[in-house]
Amino acid sequence: MAKDLIPTPDPRALRSAKAALERIRRRRLREYETMMVTGFTRTCPVCGYQGEFAPVGEPPRLDGLCPLCRSRERHRLFRLWIDRRGGIGKNMSVLHFAPEPMFEPILRGLAGRYVTADFMRTKVDLKLDIEALDLPDDSFDLIIAHQILEHVDHHKALAECFRVLTPGGRMVATTPVVEAWAETYVNPEVKTARERVLHFGQKDHSRYFGRDLKDHMRAAGFDLYEFISVEPDVSTYALHRGETLYELTKPAAPTLKTTTRKG
Ligand SMILES: [Zn+2]
Repeated sequence: MAKDLIPTPDPRALRSAKAALERIRRRRLREYETMMVTGFTRTCPVCGYQGEFAPVGEPPRLDGLCPLCRSRERHRLFRLWIDRRGGIGKNMSVLHFAPEPMFEPILRGLAGRYVTADFMRTKVDLKLDIEALDLPDDSFDLIIAHQILEHVDHHKALAECFRVLTPGGRMVATTPVVEAWAETYVNPEVKTARERVLHFGQKDHSRYFGRDLKDHMRAAGFDLYEFISVEPDVSTYALHRGETLYELTKPAAPTLKTTTRKG
């Protein structure tokens, strides 16, 4: 690979860059303070709140947080999915990993059986490792796993969720993805929490997915539907533009491979 031609800066110019860095930081902080109040009226599909939203995240995303139910963009996208595609009924059993508190009453009200699970948290129905589920085959109609796949061995997690779903059952998942990347970024050199923040965006993330995540989902046996945030939902409900909720369906019946015999 060709070496990048990186010039060596003049030491005096470097000193002035340091001073500029401080000036820019202070100016940006003052600007941020005024930007925090957007004055836009948004609607939260999770709790029904209408009004101004709050900034959230580091660096802050303006209007990211509903001040009433604390939903973030992905939660509001999931609420829209429930209404438009969820079809959750009393005949269904639902398994919810790392359950977001604002969804518990909604999903308990809709589903016949609603089970919460987590590997670390204790206030859930089941302590489960998504890479090795202590559950029988074909036992749930819907599995919800938001912001989980980037923390675990996603190949194992997808295979286990496929096994535990009933034929025709679905898994829904959100996770950070860089669509412009063909391949998922993993790096065995990245070991400390601080390095993981720099490389993967959060101290407990183990990779950054590229669009090959969708190939991995299909390779696990799933049919894939992408529920994507578009306008007018983005401006109405304060969603991330183009954020995708992956809806993975376990085919209802195994596809039989047919062979043609001659003679
Ligand atoms: Zn809300």
